[in-house]
Amino acid sequence: MIKHTILVTGGAGFIGHHFIKHRLRETEDRIVNLDALTYAGDLEALKELEGSPRYTFAKGDVNNRELVDELIRQHNINLIVHFAAESHVDRSITSASSFIQTNIAGTQVLLDVAREHGARFIHISTDEVYGSLGETGIFTEESFLAPRSPYAASKASSDCLVLACHHTFGLPVNITRCTNNFGPRQFPEKFIPKMIIQALEGTPLTVYGNGENVRDWIHVYDHCTAIDAVIEKGIDGEVYNIGSSNERKNLDVARIILEELGLDESRITHVTDRPGHDYRYALNSGKIRNELGWAPRFEFEPALKKTIDWYKVYRPWWERMLKRGKEL
Ligand code: NAD
Repeated sequence: MIKHTILVTGGAGFIGHHFIKHRLRETEDRIVNLDALTYAGDLEALKELEGSPRYTFAKGDVNNRELVDELIRQHNINLIVHFAAESHVDRSITSASSFIQTNIAGTQVLLDVAREHGARFIHISTDEVYGSLGETGIFTEESFLAPRSPYAASKASSDCLVLACHHTFGLPVNITRCTNNFGPRQFPEKFIPKMIIQALEGTPLTVYGNGENVRDWIHVYDHCTAIDAVIEKGIDGEVYNIGSSNERKNLDVARIILEELGLDESRITHVTDRPGHDYRYALNSGKIRNELGWAPRFEFEPALKKTIDWYKVYRPWWERMLKRGKEL
């Protein structure tokens, strides 16, 4: 395995911090974590890495060109794995400006600096760029981009900028588009932690609309190993869908959580639907499986049960994060 010196952006977030810990455990890479520590960023899980010669944390914004340039130069970065983003659809509906600033403008800053230094760029995107499906159908990497929320539109814009930089300037790039992640330390505003926390708190489980919306779930560790596969074997300029083929209705996920906690289904309450709520996402991830040899390892129900156990034990963490979310 080739050793890399990676600039991970957004490494204090949910997926980024799992990726950093996994990568330092499984490889001999060095990692520089650039994170602005917004409400979603938290360093608690990375404390154990403090003092490691293979890990450096830099607090800062991806829009800060001088800082990005200095980090790449100082640490001889040869690969950027770009997670940093505003990531919550509901917040993008309330106000899109930080999504434009971080997800679009920030990505362009990173691309410009990557180009100057010849660093390879892996852009962590989402299945939401493809828009919404009806009862049938599945998105492939060839599907049109048809984002429907400000969040998804900002991610689709950044995908286009990444591909433009590849085609125009020859920057070595890959884009990954993953389905909905779940696992430990996901910010409480996201669907699965929200349902678990509401169940643990004894409050109603607030499900948007009729709860029939379908999401395709993947455990966060499987997302990390898929990114490994792209780092090691990804073909320059290619996009890879990442999915686990775990389509579930939101209502059914809420039911599993209640059952696991020995609670009654009557705890579910339906609240006004999210405006423009996408009905269904589903990904064909045959390309990364067949061409790069990746496969997910986690089954949905057992992994969800372990995630519920994690939230039971780590109440102080999510209580702290909940306060942060509400303070905004
Ligand atoms: P998250 O919200 O948990 O973490 C985002 C991190 O980015 C935080 O640590 C935050 O402090 C940091 N950040 C935000 N703005 C920044 C800025 N301007 N400069 C530097 N750092 C900044 O998000 P996540 O769920 O871990 O998602 C990570 C990436 O994966 C995102 O790009 C998201 O679009 C993508 N993705 C997420 C999912 C999912 O289900 N969570 C699925 C597919 C793709």
